[in-house]
Amino acid sequence: MSETVTKKMMLYFPKCEVETPIIYYLVKDHDLMVNVFRAKVTPEEEGYLVLDVTGTEEDIKKGMDFVKTFGVTINYTNKGVIRKENRCTHCGVCITFCPTKALQITNMATREVVYNSDDCIECLACTRVCPFNACVSTF
Ligand code: SF4
Ligand code: SF4
Repeated sequence: MSETVTKKMMLYFPKCEVETPIIYYLVKDHDLMVNVFRAKVTPEEEGYLVLDVTGTEEDIKKGMDFVKTFGVTINYTNKGVIRKENRCTHCGVCITFCPTKALQITNMATREVVYNSDDCIECLACTRVCPFNACVSTF
């Protein structure tokens, strides 16, 4: 039996496909497990999904080939949150709101607020509280 892997990705749906139950077909027809972290439909009625897909490499590839037939763009690397270092004043406001310690002070001497994207679950809390727009949603 082939080994299963989990891949994180962001799907962008054009306006005409937002209603299509693509996730349902990924699970039913492609043997994939899908864990949706975040979903959003923009005012322009385009859709974004951030999700984990678990299955064999082959099934994931087939599933994503299927998704692409709907004109969906797949981004395997983009994060739903980015930190604009040049805007950060290291005020520390975001730290207490970050549930995973993706934002934290690691050096008490400099008190610099460090962002670790690997620990970020894209809850968007920091984007709401940062007074300087240093944490920004890409959605
Ligand atoms: S709240 Fe914004 S400016 Fe303050 S430390 Fe966090 S990211 Fe930097
Ligand atoms: S999006 Fe959430 S998890 Fe990620 S850095 Fe901001 S507060 Fe932390």
